[in-house]
Amino acid sequence: MKKHKNIEFNIKNVGENVVLEGWVAKKRNLGGLVFIDLRDRSGIIQLVVRPEQKDYDLASNLKTESVIRIEGNIVERESKNPKLSTGEIEVIVEKLEVFSMAHDLPFEISEDTTALEDTRLKYRYLDLRRNSLKENLITRSKLMHVIRNFFYEEGFIEIETPILCKSTPEGARDYLVPSRVNNGNFYALPQSPQIFKQLLMIGGMEKYYQIAKCFRDEDLRADRQPEFTQVDLEMSFVEEEDVMSTTERLLAKVFSEVKGIDLKLPLSRMKYNDAIRDYGSDKPDLRFDMKIESLNKIFKDTEFTVFKSVLESSGEIGCIIVKGSASNYSRKEIDKLTDFVKTYKANGLAWLKYTESDFSGSIRKVVTDENLKKIQEQFGIEENDLILIIADQYKVTKTALGALRTKLAHELSLIKKDDYQFTWITDFPSFEYSEEENRYVACHHPFTAPKDEDIDKLISDKANCYSKAYDIVINGYEAGGGSIRIHRAEVQKKMFEALGFTMEQAKEKFGFFLEAFDYGTPPHGGLALGLDRLTMLLVGTENIRDVIAFPKTASASCLMSECPNRVDPIQLKELGIEITKKN
Ligand code: ASP
Repeated sequence: MKKHKNIEFNIKNVGENVVLEGWVAKKRNLGGLVFIDLRDRSGIIQLVVRPEQKDYDLASNLKTESVIRIEGNIVERESKNPKLSTGEIEVIVEKLEVFSMAHDLPFEISEDTTALEDTRLKYRYLDLRRNSLKENLITRSKLMHVIRNFFYEEGFIEIETPILCKSTPEGARDYLVPSRVNNGNFYALPQSPQIFKQLLMIGGMEKYYQIAKCFRDEDLRADRQPEFTQVDLEMSFVEEEDVMSTTERLLAKVFSEVKGIDLKLPLSRMKYNDAIRDYGSDKPDLRFDMKIESLNKIFKDTEFTVFKSVLESSGEIGCIIVKGSASNYSRKEIDKLTDFVKTYKANGLAWLKYTESDFSGSIRKVVTDENLKKIQEQFGIEENDLILIIADQYKVTKTALGALRTKLAHELSLIKKDDYQFTWITDFPSFEYSEEENRYVACHHPFTAPKDEDIDKLISDKANCYSKAYDIVINGYEAGGGSIRIHRAEVQKKMFEALGFTMEQAKEKFGFFLEAFDYGTPPHGGLALGLDRLTMLLVGTENIRDVIAFPKTASASCLMSECPNRVDPIQLKELGIEITKKN
C-alpha cells in the first residue's frame, strides 16, 4: 500500500529515502535533467531525474497524467517555490516504475482549464483530478462526517428507508421504475423519505436521521439535480422550537468544524409575511440591507392615476432605495432594470434620482413636492440616491422588487465574500393558490400541521390558515425546511379534504399511512437540509455540479456513462413495456 502523501515532506526531511506514487502532473526537460511534478491527492512534489540514471529515457518519454512509482532521495532545492508546501525540496529519482502510461488527454488538467463543461463532464474522472473539485469533495466528506457525529452524539438513529417506493406527493414529478414481477405496476423513486420518517416515529424510533438520496423529475436549474442528497431528520414529542434549535446546533457544529466560523445562536427568525413585506422573498438574502419600503401612505391622496388606481384596488406601491447609486444607472440602464422586473410580471418601473439637491426621474412631474419631501424625510434620502418604484398587486410588487434587490446587490458588489447570514422563516401559510391548477395547494406538504388556532380554517378560510412550518435560509438560499406534522388522523383527513382529495383518493394514495395514525402516533416533526446546497455554500460555488462527483447535465443526462439510454427489447418485454414514441 502507498505509504506516504507527497505533502508530508519538507525541508526537515532532506537526506531521507522515499517511495512515492502518483500522477505526472507536469514534465519538463531542462538542461539535460527531467523535472516532474508528481501529484497525488495531497498535492505536488518535484522529482528530478538525472541523465546518469538508468531510468532517464523512461522519464524523458513519460506522458502527462501517467501513473508512476519512484524511489529517491530528498534534497534541498536551489530555486525554491514558496507557493508549495514541498517547495523547498525535490526528490532525486533513483528508480522509476511506470504503472500506466497515459494517452494524449482530451483536455489539459489545470485550474484555469478552458475546456467546455460538457467535455469535462464526459471525462469527469479527469476533471476530478483538478484541485478545486477534489477540495470540494473533501469538504463534502468532512461535512457528512461532522453531521453523522452530531446526530450520534445527540442520540439519533441513522435509518435507511427504501428507494423503491410508492409515489408520494412532494410536489414534483416522480421518477418511475417499472416492476417486472408485477407487470404494469410501478415503483416511484422517493422525492424524500417523508412518509417513511413519519412512520418511523409511529414505529417508536423517536429520533431518526438519514443522509438520503432523493429524486425529483423537475426542470433543472444551476442549483438543482434530478438526484440530490438531503440530511433528513425527524423527532417525536417535539414542538417547532425543538427541531429548530437542534438544526441550529447542527449548523453551528458544521460551520465551526468545516469553516472555523462561530455562529451566534439562536439564529434570527422572521415570519413569512414579514419576509415578503421587507424582502419580497421567503428566502431573503440578508448579507445586504436595501429593504423594500411601502409608499402607500405617502401616496394615499395622490392624483397620479397609475398610483391612484393601484391603491384603489388594494395594491402596493413599493420601492427600494439604492444608496449612492443614481450616477451608476443611466436611463438606458434603468430600461434594462424595467425589462427585468417585467419578467416578474410587474407592469413597469418608476424611478427618482436625488442629485444636486433635487429630484428628477420618470415620475417627477406627476407627484407633488410634498410627496417628495415626505419620501426624503421618511427614508433619509441623500445626494446620489436612486429610488426604484413598482406599483402593482401586493405580491407582484414585492416579488419583483425582491428580485431587483438581489440583482442590484450583485451588480453593485454589495455582498461581502465569506459572509454567512442565516435566518429562519416561520409562520408559513398552509396553502398557496395555484393559478395554473385553479385551486389551493399545500405550501409545504400535506402532512404539515396547521397552527393549533387555525385548524378550523383548513376548510373554511384557507387563505388565512397558517402552519407550523419553518425554513432555514442561508445567504438567500433555502438551505432546508420542515415542519411539525399532523399527528391526528381526523386533522390529516381534513387536510386531504382541504387539498381537494376525495376520501377514496386519499385512501388509495395514503391508506397505509392514514391507517398507521389509528394505532398510536406521537406528536412529531422534522426537517431536511439540502446537503448539496450546504456544500455549495461552504465551498462558495453557485454550480451544484461542482459539489457532486458524478452530476447530471441540465437535461438530466450523464455525459460520461451516456444515460439515460435505450434498453434491450428483451428487458422491455419482461417489463411488459412497449415504446410507442421515440425521440
Ligand atoms: N420532506 C421535506 C422536504 O423534502 C422536508 C421535511 O418536511 O422534513 O422538503
